[in-house]
Amino acid sequence: MPKTVGLESSIEAESALELASRAPNTMLIDGDWSGGTNSNWFDVIDPADGSKIASVVNGTQDDGLRAVAAAASAAEGWKAKSPRQRSDILMRCFHLMTERAEFLARLITAENGKALPDARGEVSYAAEFFRWYAEESPRDFSELAIAPSGANRIVVQHQPIGVAVLITPWNFPAAMATRKIAPALAAGCTCILKPAAETPLTALAIGAIMLEAGVPAGVVNIVTTTSAGEVVNAMLHDPRVRKLSFTGSTGVGKILLKEAADQVISSSMELGGNAPFIVFDDADLESAVAGAMVAKMRNGGEACTAANRFYVQRGIYDAFVQRLTDEMSALKVGRGLDAGIQLGPLITPAAVAKVERLVLDAVNRGAKIVTGGTKIAGPGYFYPPTVLSEVVPGSDILNEEIFGPVAAIIPFETQEEVIALANNTEYGLVSYIYSADHKRAFFVAGEIESGMVGVNRGIVSDAAAPFGGMKQSGLGREGGRHGMLEYVEMKYIAASW
Ligand code: NAP
Repeated sequence: MPKTVGLESSIEAESALELASRAPNTMLIDGDWSGGTNSNWFDVIDPADGSKIASVVNGTQDDGLRAVAAAASAAEGWKAKSPRQRSDILMRCFHLMTERAEFLARLITAENGKALPDARGEVSYAAEFFRWYAEESPRDFSELAIAPSGANRIVVQHQPIGVAVLITPWNFPAAMATRKIAPALAAGCTCILKPAAETPLTALAIGAIMLEAGVPAGVVNIVTTTSAGEVVNAMLHDPRVRKLSFTGSTGVGKILLKEAADQVISSSMELGGNAPFIVFDDADLESAVAGAMVAKMRNGGEACTAANRFYVQRGIYDAFVQRLTDEMSALKVGRGLDAGIQLGPLITPAAVAKVERLVLDAVNRGAKIVTGGTKIAGPGYFYPPTVLSEVVPGSDILNEEIFGPVAAIIPFETQEEVIALANNTEYGLVSYIYSADHKRAFFVAGEIESGMVGVNRGIVSDAAAPFGGMKQSGLGREGGRHGMLEYVEMKYIAASW
């Protein structure tokens, strides 16, 4: 198995097929690159042309349960390691991932399609979770206090919560994996990662890097499958599993919360978003447009944090629409691995069809297409950068995640009105506010129902900060010191001495 995944020097010349051939394609269970309990495989597709680039082992319920058994038997040994030992291993993961960054970025592009600059950004963000939690691992402070009565001491210990099932989506196949694995391991937990079926290769390559960094057998297991529902359901009904951390759609999150309830498994949920991007009249136009481009177009719009609804105050509206259109229409679209490309394909034909449906609905209700708006002919799953102005309230595009390169712009008049519009959604992941008046920006940030707010910034993600949503965007936080608390059980000991 490729223990030195990504070390070869000819990376730049390689096609998606060649890149994929250098990643593992079998599951990682108990330190072994394992075949499945049946002999089924599934295809991994290059979204830039629809071609098959790899076959990956299609795991079953039995494979999921083997992975749980491996994680459970590795748990005592991993828990017994000192925080410093765990920290050293995680730091080696950071260094190896950074050394192999270019290979990993190209592999992400090969199976996900995103433009290489986005993939490079993802690898560096993903590696940061190893560094951050390597640093956090020795800093997990427990508490000691005197009871108010003076009769005893109150000791609060943090213990690893136990075997964790981690489920990740295809849009950030590296970062969503490390954002879960790193705090789980730092806290002393062992885990099973179930990556998305569209993008299993990146996860498997990270698994190989982790073994090389010294992660013991069974501490991290990776189960690949196209039967996510069955395999995960079996794992969540194994009494050895004590933690579920899921990133994906709100619909699947609700199913998993119900399944986790059967064994009262602690659950962290990073779900969908519908981010408002608010521009007040007094905002600096150029920085608002630059922020809008990042908030909308990072990852080609396929991000839970993507700006979904642009609310722009009347006084700056026309200028903002014009400048955003200039920037959007100048983007170079094409195969993500090619030099100079800024926007790659969407993940699947179904993703393109969803974007087409949302644009059509908006236009039928009165929105104007300022640029883009028509699917690009294949091969590959391309949709052009698109700006829609004067989008009408009630349009589906304002209620559903677009997950594509479409900016829907709506004018507003007053601060009160825009706060109500921004909050008129069941989601509450992130919002963005542009204003030169910081007092106003912070007031509005306080009023908006979202777990994260970017003030005069189009990006909020940071390994050192608590990432997560309110309302139906999720439960719990990932990143920062808070992210590790999701993987600890608090034990209170009342002691007299
Ligand atoms: P998804 O369909 O919910 O899938 C996410 C993961 O869940 C995949 O690994 C998928 O496996 C698995 N899955 C699907 N059905 C399942 C079931 N019944 N039981 C157990 N696992 C199941 O979401 P997606 O389309 O991959 O990702 C896009 C969504 O993720 C968007 O809604 C986006 O906002 C959200 N997201 C949120 C964050 C955040 O931090 N809040 C970050 C990134 C993405 P298969 O691939 O095999 O179906």
